[in-house]
Amino acid sequence: MELRESIVRALRCRECGKEYPVAPDHVCEFCFGPLEVVYDYDRLVGRLTRELIESRPRSMWRYRELLPIDGAPSVGAQNGFTPLVRARNLERVLGVSELYIKNDSVCYPTLSFKDRVVSVALSKAVEFGFTTVACASTGNLAGSVAANAAAAGLRSYVFIPHDLEQGKVLGAGIFGTRIVGIDGAYDDVNRLCSEVAGKYGWAFVNVNVRPFYAEGSKSLGYEMMEQLGWRAPKQVVVPMASGSLCTKIDKSIKEFVKLGLVEDVGTRIFGAQATGCSPISRAVREGSDLIHPVKADTIAKSLAIGNPADGYYASRVIRDSGGWAEDVSDEEVVAAIKLLAETEGIFTETAGGVTLGVARKLIEQGRIDRDESIVVCITGNGLKTQEAVVEAIAPPRIIEASLRAFDRLAEADGVRPAG
Ligand SMILES: [Zn+2]
Repeated sequence: MELRESIVRALRCRECGKEYPVAPDHVCEFCFGPLEVVYDYDRLVGRLTRELIESRPRSMWRYRELLPIDGAPSVGAQNGFTPLVRARNLERVLGVSELYIKNDSVCYPTLSFKDRVVSVALSKAVEFGFTTVACASTGNLAGSVAANAAAAGLRSYVFIPHDLEQGKVLGAGIFGTRIVGIDGAYDDVNRLCSEVAGKYGWAFVNVNVRPFYAEGSKSLGYEMMEQLGWRAPKQVVVPMASGSLCTKIDKSIKEFVKLGLVEDVGTRIFGAQATGCSPISRAVREGSDLIHPVKADTIAKSLAIGNPADGYYASRVIRDSGGWAEDVSDEEVVAAIKLLAETEGIFTETAGGVTLGVARKLIEQGRIDRDESIVVCITGNGLKTQEAVVEAIAPPRIIEASLRAFDRLAEADGVRPAG
C-alpha cells in the first residue's frame, strides 16, 4: 500500500515563521532566515505504520511520506538503507556496553551519506522542471551529484575548492560532470554558487533546493531507529560540517515519536568537529549561540566549512537535547580511522575519524554514558581520502618468491611452521 498524497504543507522560515509555497526557494524574503519544509503529520498518524514500512524495499524511500517529494522518486531509487553494525570489538576497547556504527561509508551509489540528500534534491529538482543541477561541495557531494545526475540523465556542474583530495575529484569527474575548481576555501565556493544559482537558474542542491535536500538526511535517522528494533538510541554522535545533519537527526526522531513509531527516550545528540575547523563545537562548549566563522585547517576536508549555515541550529539542538560537542586533532582523526578499521573492519574517511575520535573523547570525559546505547554515524568511505592515512600504514614487506625467504620473515614474526 502507498499513501500517495504528499503531506508537505509549505516552506516556513525558521526565524520569523512566515510560510511560503513549495518552490525552489531557501531564504525568507523578510528576515533572510533559512526556509524549512513543514508537514501535516496528523494525516499520517496511524497510517504510516511499522508494518507498512517493513513491507517496502530496503532503500531510504521506504519512509517516502516523510520526504518532501510529491510523486515517486525519479533519482536514486536504490539509495540508502545502509547497515547498522553492532560494534562488539569497539565496545570492548572503549569500555561501553552497547555501541553501533551506522555505516554510510557503503551508501549506494557513491559511498557517502550525501547520496541520501542528493536523491531527494534531484528528485525534487525534476519535479520543479530543472534540467541542470549543481552544487558547492567539499568532495562527497560533488561525487554524489555527478553520479546521481548521470543516472537520471541530468546535466551537472560541481564546484569544489581547488585543493581537494584526488579521490574526491576523480570520484566526481568519472561521471562526466563539469568540475569547476575554485581558487579559495569552501566558503568562497559557496558564496560564488549562490550568485551562479541566481543568474543561471539551475537547481543548486545546497543553495536554492537546500530545504528539500537537507530533508534527505532524516532517512539516516529513520533507518537507525528501525534497525535498532524500532527504538531511538539514548545517544547519537554526528559529524558536523554545516551542522545540518544534527538538526535533521533530531527532526527524524521527533517525527517518529509523533507518529507513534518509537518511544521518546530523550535521545542526546553529540556533535563532532575537527579542531582545525570547530566553530560549532566551540560555541557549544562556550555555552553560546554565536558561531564565529573560522579559516579551516584540517585533514578532514569534508567537514571544513568555516562558516556553517546551520551552526546556530545545530548548537541549539545539541544543547536542548542534553548532548555536547567536541573536536579532535588531525592525529586523533588518523588514530580513530585506524581504530575503526582494526576493530570492526570498516574503513572510513577523515570525517568518520572525527566522529569516532570525538565519541571516544566524550566517553573518556564521562559526557557519554558508557551504560546506555550509542550510535556513531559514519558518513563516508576511506578509499576517498587515502592521503590522510598513507603514512600511518606499514608498507608491504617485499621478499623474493622463495619459501626460504618467507621462512625468514615468519621467524622474525615469531611464527612457526605447522607440525
Ligand atoms: Zn523570516
